[in-house]
Amino acid sequence: GQCTLVCPVGALIEAPHWHEVLHTLDARRRVSVVQVAPATRVAISEEFGLKPGTVSTGRLINALRMLGFDYVFDTNFAADLTIMEEGTELLSRLEAGTELPLFTSCCPGWVNWVELNRPDLLPHLSTTKSPQQMHGAIAKRGRFARSLGPDFADGTVEPYVVSVMPCTAKKDEAKRPGVSGDVDHVLTTRELARMIRSRGIPFGALAEDGQFDSPLGESTGAAQIFGASGGVMEAMVRTAAHFKGVEDDLPLEWEALRGVREGVKTATIPGVGTVAVCSGIAAAQRMLEDEDWREDYVAIEVMACVGGCLGGGGEPKSMDPLILQKRAKAIYGVDATAPRRRSYENTDVQALYASELGAPNSRAAHQLLHTHYAARHSQRSLLMRFLDCVDRRDG
Ligand code: SF4
Repeated sequence: GQCTLVCPVGALIEAPHWHEVLHTLDARRRVSVVQVAPATRVAISEEFGLKPGTVSTGRLINALRMLGFDYVFDTNFAADLTIMEEGTELLSRLEAGTELPLFTSCCPGWVNWVELNRPDLLPHLSTTKSPQQMHGAIAKRGRFARSLGPDFADGTVEPYVVSVMPCTAKKDEAKRPGVSGDVDHVLTTRELARMIRSRGIPFGALAEDGQFDSPLGESTGAAQIFGASGGVMEAMVRTAAHFKGVEDDLPLEWEALRGVREGVKTATIPGVGTVAVCSGIAAAQRMLEDEDWREDYVAIEVMACVGGCLGGGGEPKSMDPLILQKRAKAIYGVDATAPRRRSYENTDVQALYASELGAPNSRAAHQLLHTHYAARHSQRSLLMRFLDCVDRRDG
């Protein structure tokens, strides 16, 4: 049978890695790279007594440099890249009329759930890697890494790559077959806060002037909203509308896809089709109970946590009942004022395609930015099968 996951991956313990990361940084033997997820820059403020919903991007970058990271990059760069790859994948599936609807695959809680409980859905999952894993692959093996020196170019040495995520499931994702090794350590927002405190860095008093490094640091408003439920779908709609040549006739913001409450949201995009967003794994489970989803939608976003990554298991705990709304408001605010709000407008992403990958979904893009999935048996299902055998033997 299926199991309802409360902790999205069933990872009951949050294995802390921050001591190890500090140790590696202090040793100063390796070039170090850190990437920060969109949900972290808002929630970290709460750890240091700033008002919930405060966006601390600049302070966070300054704190990471003080901790000793050589390069501070934005996971959002890879979020824009994810949209280029996933949007292109959606359009090719629409053209071919196969494996629709397309399910997003950037939430490892959801991917694990499918692999464990519904392997029949695997062909529907986008093969695009999550932003964390894309960023790791490019930082380790792309042009940026090769530019660090001859040893990096021939692969004898690699940069040390750390990511800061709102999510305990991202630790498990970094060890998946096919992507393992691209991100050395994953820290949760809470772990990073502990690290900052352990070094006595006065986070709240830091200047807000920190800037991400180039070339893996630029991002658009579309990437900013990845942290909220519906954000990945809205970002994909913006770029898919451009690819289809209908963006001038469509709004940029899709209110129907926004909101942090548990449940399913839908919107019909002229020229593309109807899309759905599941906020929380239980909403997805309910949607899958009948077969209508196969006909009704062309694309479905699923985030295992209610509200999306803003409510992730690695975020600070809060007693505020409106905390998800406050965090979401902050993120949509960043998007609203961003100079570029569509992923295809990201100039660092454009440069990456021009210099290295060719076009979205090209062979080179597939090698670096896509992955595969496989059915897995949970310990629980193995146990159930064992018990079933014992039952039958006894009977
Ligand atoms: Fe992690 Fe975000 Fe998925 Fe929650 S919704 S499991 S925080 S990726």
